[in-house]
Amino acid sequence: MNAEIIVVGSELLTPHRMDTNSLYLTEQLNLLGVEVVFKSIVGDNLPRLVAAAEHALFRSEIVIFSGGLGPTEDDLTREAVAEALGVGLRRDPEILRSLEERFAARGWKMAANNAKQADVLEGATVLANPNGTAPGQWISGEFEGREHIIVMLPGPPHELKALFETEVRERLRAKVPPAFLATRTLKIAMLGESAVDARVAPIYTRYKDVETTILAGAGEIELHFKSRAANQEAAQQRVDEVADLVEDELDDAVYSRDGQSLEQIVGYWLQMRGATVAVAESCTGGLLAERITSVSGSSRYFVGGAVVYSNALKTEFAGVPAEMIERHGAVSREVAAALAEGIRYRCESTLGVGITGVAGPGGGTPEKPVGLVFHAVASDRGTEVAQRNFPGDRKRIRRFASTMALDMLRKKLM
Ligand code: ATP
Ligand code: MG
Repeated sequence: MNAEIIVVGSELLTPHRMDTNSLYLTEQLNLLGVEVVFKSIVGDNLPRLVAAAEHALFRSEIVIFSGGLGPTEDDLTREAVAEALGVGLRRDPEILRSLEERFAARGWKMAANNAKQADVLEGATVLANPNGTAPGQWISGEFEGREHIIVMLPGPPHELKALFETEVRERLRAKVPPAFLATRTLKIAMLGESAVDARVAPIYTRYKDVETTILAGAGEIELHFKSRAANQEAAQQRVDEVADLVEDELDDAVYSRDGQSLEQIVGYWLQMRGATVAVAESCTGGLLAERITSVSGSSRYFVGGAVVYSNALKTEFAGVPAEMIERHGAVSREVAAALAEGIRYRCESTLGVGITGVAGPGGGTPEKPVGLVFHAVASDRGTEVAQRNFPGDRKRIRRFASTMALDMLRKKLM
């Protein structure tokens, strides 16, 4: 069975709000073995909503609506679906009473427009909303000669999720043919997307029943494998087989096979080794520290560090000799190493990290262009420095640099 999602809300057609409900719904539907084949975002406009609903009913068996169930003029999902299905709306006295009670419990008088939320499509099952006033609705039945399931859910993400979990998931499971879906994710650091694809495409293209997707970010690539089969073990076996072969091919560039982030993996290794780390960051402005400390429990291995943007602070906080900066420039192999060693000494940590580079867009020179970054990791066995020329804008270059430093830490600790 195929599904489609219609997301309702004019705000979601502006640059200020992003639709995330459909991502959640897609994930949940996939877990039930249902593929999402279309999704659309429609503003709060009745004729457009009716058209979208009719179109969806024509081509998909499961249609899920998000939003537009509130009390105001522009909440039109109920009306639009009723019109598209050619059924009437009735005002449900029980919902009306519970709405009134909800308001009374807060000492408020219910405004008249709220009564709209008690309108139910003929033949629909009401789905109680534990987190809000607008209930969801479920209709299943024949439409244009085919079996359909239509679900209407409120737009606020916490309401939509709670309703899906309590009222929709099991109802859907009972209706859709059992299909078992297995997924695996491999995460790869500091290899280019085309380089990764060139190496792994010969492997995954042999598995016609496994869907492979590549997602690339600054310095990080995710390979997603997905397979369906008659039972869970068979599906899992297929994705594991491809993932294992791909992992063999990419070797230690694969940092995670169970979904963990690079920050988590670095944290794991630091704890395994009983090691601590301190950072001295210039062009990343604290991004590396932010990423390391985004992991709960990071106080066990992250001691701290310094954002040393000015040359004076590089000397004062990380002990980089002023004449070294004078001679080689702040963005140099020597200064990166001295930052790592200096901060390690200063913070008495097992490892020290230094980052210095040109994040741009200004400040580049022919010798030191925008994107040039030096990364260093210092330990009791010496200091390793890596130089990279990252592409992209300021944000991307900083992200690349922090990922590179994390990956150097990972490799050092492994
Ligand atoms: P309801 O069906 O409960 O009336 P609604 O769409 O009318 O939902 P809104 O007042 O439009 O409710 O939205 C409530 C909040 O939920 C807003 O902050 C809105 O941006 C957010 N929201 C609505 N739809 C989505 C979505 N698809 N993804 C993410 N956020 C959403
Ligand atoms: Mg809305």
